[in-house]
Amino acid sequence: MKLFVLSGPSGVGKGTLANMLKERNPEIALSVSCTTRAPRKGETDGVDYFFLTREEFLERANKGLFYEYSEHFDNFYGTPKDYVEKMLETKNVLLEIDVNGGELIKKQCPDAVLIFLKAPSIEALRDRLVHRNTETYEKIEKRLARLDYEYSLEKDYDYVVVNDKLETAYNEILEIIKKESNKE
Ligand code: 5GP
Repeated sequence: MKLFVLSGPSGVGKGTLANMLKERNPEIALSVSCTTRAPRKGETDGVDYFFLTREEFLERANKGLFYEYSEHFDNFYGTPKDYVEKMLETKNVLLEIDVNGGELIKKQCPDAVLIFLKAPSIEALRDRLVHRNTETYEKIEKRLARLDYEYSLEKDYDYVVVNDKLETAYNEILEIIKKESNKE
């Protein structure tokens, strides 16, 4: 089974699309990452993330238990190796991670397929982040300040999908997954 990475700037709709792909396609599994950030309202440990303390996270990182991890907005996020390997035995696995994570995965797993998700414009992205209402103004500005850097990594990805209309983007990503998983 194949590993797919769905990546792109914050607020671009990665989470929504990853959940749609998982819910509508039993043959696609979504990995659960570890993080040191606090759970948001409605998030459940083991479902949205495995929520760890900094000490727990760094201990696992030192033991080499992550495929990749990165520090992002003052918190660590990592892809647990054992969890992903287990799921790959029976399903295609989708990782919804930041743009740095995608590059690191490709180094470790050259067969992984990297999909970069873009917003139709920076203004659209700003609107989404503001309306999501999960972050303070300061945090939104921090996320927006990273955009140029994030967009500069697009060239290292295998596919680029623009999330203008959700259903269109969903269908494009599903097509990529079907096409790539039928190769060899
Ligand atoms: P959030 O705090 O909004 O849930 O996630 C912040 C960012 O961390 C998002 O861009 C998300 O895709 C990314 N992220 C989530 N899990 C991982 C992971 O395991 N590794 C990396 N590198 N990034 C992750």
